[in-house]
Amino acid sequence: MNLSERDLKVVWHPYTQMLNALPPIPIVRGNGACLFDEDDKCYIDAISSWWVNIHGHAHPYIAQKVAEQLQKLEHVIFAGFTHEPAVDLAERLLKILPANQTKVFYSDNGSTAVEVAIKMCLQFWHNRGQQRTKILAFKNAYHGDTFGAMAVSGRSAFTAAYDSLLFDVDFIDLPDSANIEALKSQISNLKSQLACFIFEPLVQGASGMIMYEAKYLDQLMAHCRQEQVLLIADEVFTGFGRTGKAFACDHVSVQPDVMCFSKGLTGGTMAMGLTTCAQFIYDAFLSEDRLKTLFHGHSYTANPVACSAAQASLDLFLADSTMENIRRIENRHRQFAMKIQNHPRIRSTRQTGTIIAMEWETRTDTSYFSSLRDRLYLYFLDAGIILRPLGNIVYILPPYCITDEQLDYIYSKIENALETI
Ligand SMILES: *Cc1c(COP(=O)(O)O)cnc(C)c1O
Repeated sequence: MNLSERDLKVVWHPYTQMLNALPPIPIVRGNGACLFDEDDKCYIDAISSWWVNIHGHAHPYIAQKVAEQLQKLEHVIFAGFTHEPAVDLAERLLKILPANQTKVFYSDNGSTAVEVAIKMCLQFWHNRGQQRTKILAFKNAYHGDTFGAMAVSGRSAFTAAYDSLLFDVDFIDLPDSANIEALKSQISNLKSQLACFIFEPLVQGASGMIMYEAKYLDQLMAHCRQEQVLLIADEVFTGFGRTGKAFACDHVSVQPDVMCFSKGLTGGTMAMGLTTCAQFIYDAFLSEDRLKTLFHGHSYTANPVACSAAQASLDLFLADSTMENIRRIENRHRQFAMKIQNHPRIRSTRQTGTIIAMEWETRTDTSYFSSLRDRLYLYFLDAGIILRPLGNIVYILPPYCITDEQLDYIYSKIENALETI
């Protein structure tokens, strides 16, 4: 039996209908933007392995730092104990986050970072004895797959089996010039019950790389602040350079009260989540009354090896060459968008930073389950490119180390697909 066959006997894969799933492709090693299979065929990782990899695969610097940490300390309980990697990482991150962020809470992934953020905000009001229990979110939002994170995400085919169990959330449209005033009054009408507003700044990733303007987000955030609605920026996807600045919130002037990170945090090396908050949120949990404690934690909270991967990833992220690479990818994406935007099979193109998305014209189904999606996915795989269209939306978000030649190859295959698929 080969590895794919052994896999199908014992493994259940994420977001995969196992009845008719194609055998998974065994990957043996990675280098830069390339992943290599058993025959040493290179697949260009044009989606950064589900958006996590920012510096390329098996980066020798991250590998070295992780190896060193493993030989010193692999893990220690994080209640009552601490360690250098966790403290150092928190100090360094807070220096580059919006200035009001002063405390870091560690967890395991993006969904847990969101759970912690929601619990911080709900308990903030609880601890102050105020009845604010409702949450505001954007329609079509995606904040993760655990129950709280699902509840603040849009209802969809992915949540249908659990919808009746998800707590009620007030969903609003994305802001634009036409609806911004109406959204503000909607928020004002709900304000006395609203604990917080959670949003993906600038780009809604999982719902199809839907983009909206920073200036209207800024206005919405300012209005929430005025109405004392706490602001949670979910930067799990947008953090660490994706949008062209270090963080998507660097595009707006209002600073969020709480922020969530994961994905690019460790450069795509280890699972880790992180929730940061402003001092006044933290202060609301300080009390002689033990019931005001934030009762949340995971077994692997602040795992030292994950922290050292994040430290190493941060070293690389802060090097000048990384921002230069981000600029380079932005420019190349822009030129490519201009080249194809009038193609009859392209309904629209959009771009924020290193993310480019193309909506394909299709007479049939545009859903996540569309057959166009499957044909495109297989076509690109065959060409040695990993692209996973969301329905009829093809997007590229590469590791920042991707070469111009690799980008041009991806673009040329997309142009070819426009003629043939
Ligand atoms: C991926 C994602 C999450 C969930 O992160 P996981 O690590 O997959 O649990 C949360 N929020 C946003 C915006 C995401 O893109």
